[in-house]
Amino acid sequence: MDKRTETVILRIEGMTCAACSGRVEKVTSKLKGVVSSSVNLASEKATIVYDPTLIKLPQIKVAVSKAGYKAVDISGDDKCSADKIEDKFRSLRVKLIIASAFCMPLLYISMGHMIGLPLPSILHMEHHPLAFAIVQAALTLPIVAVGWRFYYVGFRAIFMRSPNMDSLIAMGTSAALIYSFYSLYSIAHGASAMEAHLYFESAAVIITLILLGKTLEARSKGKTSDAIKKLMSLTPKTAVIVRGGREVSIPAAEVAAGDLVLIRPGDKFPVDGVIVEGTTSVDEQMLTGESIPADKKIGDNVFAACINQNGSIVYRATKVGVETALAQIIKLVEQAQGSKAPIARLADTVSGYFVPFVFLIALIAFAGWMIYTGDIAFSLSVFISVMVIACPCALGLATPTAIMVATGRAAQLGILVKSGAALETAHTIDCVVLDKTGTVTQGKPDVCDVIAAEWCTKDELLKIAASAEKGSEHPLARAIAAYAENAGTKLYSSSDFAALPGHGILAKVDGMSVLIGNGRVMDDNAIAVGQLEIERERLSVDGKTAVYVAVDNKVVGIIALADVIRPDSAEAVRQLIKTGIEVIMLTGDNSATAAAIAKQAGITSVIAEVLPQDKANEIKKLQSQGRKVAMVGDGINDAPALAQADVGIAIGSGTDIAIDSADIVLIGGGLSSVPTALRLSDAAMRNIKQNLFWAFGYNVVGIPIAAGILHIFGGPLLNPMIGAAAMSLSSVSVLTNALRLRRFR
Ligand code: ADP
Ligand code: MG
Repeated sequence: MDKRTETVILRIEGMTCAACSGRVEKVTSKLKGVVSSSVNLASEKATIVYDPTLIKLPQIKVAVSKAGYKAVDISGDDKCSADKIEDKFRSLRVKLIIASAFCMPLLYISMGHMIGLPLPSILHMEHHPLAFAIVQAALTLPIVAVGWRFYYVGFRAIFMRSPNMDSLIAMGTSAALIYSFYSLYSIAHGASAMEAHLYFESAAVIITLILLGKTLEARSKGKTSDAIKKLMSLTPKTAVIVRGGREVSIPAAEVAAGDLVLIRPGDKFPVDGVIVEGTTSVDEQMLTGESIPADKKIGDNVFAACINQNGSIVYRATKVGVETALAQIIKLVEQAQGSKAPIARLADTVSGYFVPFVFLIALIAFAGWMIYTGDIAFSLSVFISVMVIACPCALGLATPTAIMVATGRAAQLGILVKSGAALETAHTIDCVVLDKTGTVTQGKPDVCDVIAAEWCTKDELLKIAASAEKGSEHPLARAIAAYAENAGTKLYSSSDFAALPGHGILAKVDGMSVLIGNGRVMDDNAIAVGQLEIERERLSVDGKTAVYVAVDNKVVGIIALADVIRPDSAEAVRQLIKTGIEVIMLTGDNSATAAAIAKQAGITSVIAEVLPQDKANEIKKLQSQGRKVAMVGDGINDAPALAQADVGIAIGSGTDIAIDSADIVLIGGGLSSVPTALRLSDAAMRNIKQNLFWAFGYNVVGIPIAAGILHIFGGPLLNPMIGAAAMSLSSVSVLTNALRLRRFR
């Protein structure tokens, strides 16, 4: 991405349907300086990428409010969106209760007599038509008052020339109300038979049902963010810090970087930091997936939300608030939940044109029936039916809700999906490329053999190798250094360290020039390996990685390292192959070693001896054969390959989520999460397609019936109230379907 751009996430208030989110997206992306804008209806958030030299944030907000909505900053201490949705649910529920309380007697009075229910004679439709009409009007007005927002938002949107779902409801019910008041007026002036032309109950029932739909929708929306709520509840509310030698208990949110925090056995860490006093073991499962507690001593890092086990310690806060690893994870999941999958664009485009189109159909149907029957009451009910049934809100919710639930569920399973697009792409994968070290294997090699040439001792060989390797971060280097340290070896001073990626290292040790690495690097430097070649071969066939150690251009021995495969690798590979996915192992290691490891994991295709910079090219090659490739790696030296792959999957811990090149981060390490992630993507996409089918199919069928197509041939007509019920149900069924993903295993 261009360095000059900035990304901001704003909460957009006042959106009710896909036409609204489409509108906000349109006005913001049209602004000069805005690179892209994506508005998510389900999370009520806009992600805007802009060039701060061309446009400032307040200008973007003004544009949003000019379109009739409100853009609000999302700051660290802001109420989380889950709470907002909860508030909304509560207020909707109150409105619903009030509306229902008036709606019941209204329905009884207006329709009870049709099925022979008793009614006081003062309200008799024919004998006292005026009382009959006035009581109904009186019962309807409070319902209209409770639903005033539909009118306010709906009519304002019409004046803004971007009608939305509320506009449809507002227009539809207003038509019913105006006509009913006209009838009431006529009755008062003695017109006969106008009492049959009262539509108060239609308007009332429509508003009540839409409120019901919205209430259920808010409740389901609240549930889609359950996963985030659970993550947030992981940090403790208070912390004990040491200030001026005294222990003070303060709210966890007020701990500042540099504070000394006191933790007792069983406590949860409130912020990230470094231990300065004491030892303990810490349950870090929520971050690393590791169920065995990690031992911690002075100088070790600890992370917010992890649980302290047995020791009392003091640690210095380093990262607080939105900086902690947990906060980063939460932010990432929220971003992914708010991001748009490509498939959502289709629904958005459709719903953008939908509302004006429906207006048109409703008007045409009204005019047609007016001309054909001359019956205004009948034509009006057709008009209202079309308006209320056609709302595209289920369409707008279809994709984002499924993505919210799926990414939230994934996070609970230790799978951090970074975007809706990644979730969508993952289901198309037909080829999974696995890095060997740290992916198929545990990535923690141990020295298993030290073989010295005749002119060198084992101790000396180890001493030279460890002294040279101590400058390297490579897992092999660290294993050699650790092995020497355990053996109590005193190291030489070393200098001029140079890493030869994919080959080995070069360093000056005590005046000697030392080269450590594979056969190729020895070849390149014209160093004969002689008889040791046979030893190397023997070790490789066992799946061990053997490196030569050369001093002043002469090989002095071999150090072999074993890196065992992860316990779940073979099972994960088996599952992937079972679902028809090709599994390939990619490594810089020697072919014989690679083949031995691949065999243990049940992998049949191996690409070995690939230089780190060529790994991305291997992925490209597979893609050019038309494959959809997922690359699984540790994200450190695999970054280019991860970025090149259609889906880059990094195996890491919660502290590695910053790995930019990865689309998915598996916390909790094992390969077994790879088939799970792909299956989840499959399930999410299937769910989205079902949602789109229901939302869309239902409008396609509902509108012509409402417009009276079947009625022309003597078939049924859609009562406006049934239309409102069906419309509410369609959003609710889409949401209920999406929520099924919460139970994904
Ligand atoms: P991988 O693909 O398994 O991550 P790398 O590309 O990092 O492997 O390294 C490939 C090979 O280069 C190793 O198997 C090893 O033989 C050699 N090598 C790389 N770095 C070092 C090092 N620091 N010390 C010794 N050998 C090394
Ligand atoms: Mg590697």
